[in-house]
Amino acid sequence: MPVDIPHFVAGARVPGRSGRTAPVFNPATGEVTGTVPLASRDEVNAAVAAAHRAFPAWAATPPLRRARILYRFLRLLEERTDDLAAVITAEHGKVLSDAKGEVQRGLEVVEFATAAPQLLKGEVTENVGTSVDSHSIRQPLGVVAGITPFNFPAMVPLWMLPVALACGNCFVLKPSERDPSASLLLADWLKEAGLPDGVFSVVHGDKEAVDALLENPDIAAVSFVGSTPIAKYIYETATRTGKRAQALGGAKNHMVVMPDADLDQAVDALMGAAYGSAGERCMAVSVAVPVGEKTADALIARLAPRVRALKIGPGTDPEAEMGPLVTRQHLDKVRGYVDIGVQEGAELVVDGRGLRLQGHENGFFIGGSLFDRVTPAMRIYKEEIFGPVLAVVRSQNFEDAVGLINAHEFGNGTAIFTRDGDAAREFATRIQVGMVGINVPIPVPMAFHSFGGWKASLFGDHHMHGPEGVRFYTRLKTITTRWPTGIRSGAEFVMPTMK
Ligand code: NAD
Repeated sequence: MPVDIPHFVAGARVPGRSGRTAPVFNPATGEVTGTVPLASRDEVNAAVAAAHRAFPAWAATPPLRRARILYRFLRLLEERTDDLAAVITAEHGKVLSDAKGEVQRGLEVVEFATAAPQLLKGEVTENVGTSVDSHSIRQPLGVVAGITPFNFPAMVPLWMLPVALACGNCFVLKPSERDPSASLLLADWLKEAGLPDGVFSVVHGDKEAVDALLENPDIAAVSFVGSTPIAKYIYETATRTGKRAQALGGAKNHMVVMPDADLDQAVDALMGAAYGSAGERCMAVSVAVPVGEKTADALIARLAPRVRALKIGPGTDPEAEMGPLVTRQHLDKVRGYVDIGVQEGAELVVDGRGLRLQGHENGFFIGGSLFDRVTPAMRIYKEEIFGPVLAVVRSQNFEDAVGLINAHEFGNGTAIFTRDGDAAREFATRIQVGMVGINVPIPVPMAFHSFGGWKASLFGDHHMHGPEGVRFYTRLKTITTRWPTGIRSGAEFVMPTMK
């Protein structure tokens, strides 16, 4: 019997009342395990109103006290990582070890945000003029919203909410309706850690809930992570109504393999980066770019048997390296892309479409696929597949590889594998991509740096978490003070200058 999944508003789990719902699946079995409510505009507005009421007291709470609540939340996340990972695996499908990795990367942002008193320190200049001092402070924005994708149901909300809360904002989260339960554990544990009611709420839903957030005048800023068309829509709609917005979109991440690279290291890296989490990562490597025919032949020769030997199973199987895709609809889409690649004339070296897992015939499984001789004109090169499908585009030289990547619509992550420091440095300097790895396939910045891509992978000016996150969730105020106040120089009608 599917469980009814609640919202979390004003400090309590509350049932949905809109009458609209969506099914939540266990991707390993294909069974419906939950029913998620799709919030109406009124339900969203009620969560925003609760946050709006909670804001003045939360903004006035000393940053150290806010940090202590986050510190207790961090401890709960550490102690209960396994519980959260189990919920992620049950609804997303990724293998448990990967789900635990996701929780770890998320809790590191909480760890970062516990430095709130340090992060919010302003700047002071004594004597900007005679007996005049200036100082700048960073103040919270108000109520901010987060809209998040299915592929990291804990980590992506945790990219946003710890920093937003640490800075004194209230936060309304609209998680993915495909794996909504992780967000409720986050809400429960924040409350247990001492977060006042209303400061953090979760409303589930689809476009109706998102539009209600975008149109609510009490929402000051929107953080979004998801596919590019929706990211663009969110950014344009939010900014049109005067909200601050950061909207992270899709990706097509290339990994260049130079002729001098350690090929075994590159193959290991490609296996994890292309097929880990069934390719459902915005930082997954979906294009390998070997430089030179010899490198390409050697790479394919080593990759193909590894792809065929991938251990695929339910996320709860400790032996499994790759779990199922998130939904049947997504499975059909990924399978469709493999069909398209064949029609387009790419060479399908490993075909994952035929995979059948005994005992899991209704699960959303597909095997790993590997295409060689993919060209930039093909759809399987241009479009984000978001599945375990690696395209190999052969490049004649370093210049062609750089040109190929820079011409792509997306610019989220990229990597180069080489032993040549010159090539690595040149690559890092010239590549039009936000996150770059040198012999590191998935260069996800740590919590105290900031995460974000370029081009169609990010709309807005701020990356997430780290220093950029603090800037996004605060606004600057600069105060100029004159002491003593008794000095009189008469009325001045010219621009104030230093005398
Ligand atoms: P998605 O765009 O379908 O959904 C993201 C969020 O938007 C969800 O909360 C969803 O409910 C909402 N949404 C969906 N359709 C909407 C609409 N028409 N109007 C308003 N809101 C809508 O993305 P997804 O399938 O959940 O996630 C996968 C995508 O996210 C991939 O494209 C992936 O690259 C991207 N992603 C990017 C990053 C990054 O950092 N750049 C990180 C993770 C995922």
